[in-house]
Amino acid sequence: MTNLKILNEVEEVQEGVPQYVWQFHGEEPGPTVTVMGGLHGNETVGIDVVEKLLAVVREKIKIGMVNIIIGNPAAAEAGKRFIDKDANRLWGGKLVNIPEQDRVEELKPFLAQSDLMLDLHSTIKPVSEPFLVVPSFDHELVDTIQTLGIRKIITGEGLKLPDNDPIESDLFTVANGGLGVTIEAGWQEDNNLVDKTMDSVLRALEEVGIFEKDSLAKHNQAEVVETFEIWNAYSAIFPRVNFQFPDGKEWQNYDVVKKGEIIGYENGEPVVAEKDSRLLFPKSNNQIVTGERACILLDMKPQYLDKDSLPLSVK
Ligand SMILES: [Zn+2]
Repeated sequence: MTNLKILNEVEEVQEGVPQYVWQFHGEEPGPTVTVMGGLHGNETVGIDVVEKLLAVVREKIKIGMVNIIIGNPAAAEAGKRFIDKDANRLWGGKLVNIPEQDRVEELKPFLAQSDLMLDLHSTIKPVSEPFLVVPSFDHELVDTIQTLGIRKIITGEGLKLPDNDPIESDLFTVANGGLGVTIEAGWQEDNNLVDKTMDSVLRALEEVGIFEKDSLAKHNQAEVVETFEIWNAYSAIFPRVNFQFPDGKEWQNYDVVKKGEIIGYENGEPVVAEKDSRLLFPKSNNQIVTGERACILLDMKPQYLDKDSLPLSVK
């Protein structure tokens, strides 16, 4: 993996820009794109992509502006997901007094000014398939999504907090008028995942005009998506008191709960599924915190949508 200290020495610290943020300007006005890796410090793919991207953007940028960011450098140096608190839960209005919050606060202006924000993540456990989290498709750059080469998308109201506070980087970008996309690239032990993810990002930058069309070497990693598999997150469980999943139950992503089935217990009272659903991002019982999301509830089946119907058919 990229050695962050060396990266910061090689890449000049720019005046007026925080450490581990690099800003590049094209010769003419254009869109602002932010690419962030390492918001979870142990997710190495995004960090490696950031390092490779710096050289390409510096050389090839034609119009607009690109911000390239290591989200949580302290955690990345420690090789941990986070130090005190998950930096991808700190983008809302409720500030906590920890260094990770200070880091997010200095990054907020860069995401807030972005037309497109790509937040790069990867998994440390093998997973079947990469996916995108796209809280809202309502943006003029929505066509960029198909260039990322990932067909599976999670969207919907269930991604939001009950009070609408945008705690995640993608929701924060959306709240500020940009297209916010989280790329869950896949298992980081996969050999070509860095190249593949790099290719997705380069395609997106080309699509929005940052690079001259066809100025890059031929892409061969990511395919342009023709049909998307859209999973609607219709709700989520935010425990108010004492929530636990059933004894010993370790839910996995996309596990099915039937209508009326007990998902968990809140203060001893069963919480049942209101319809046939699937669970996403279920926590383990020992990680559940009151007021923080315990899991997301997905519709039972995905919708398959042609790329051209994407902005129209999904709210
Ligand atoms: Zn992550």
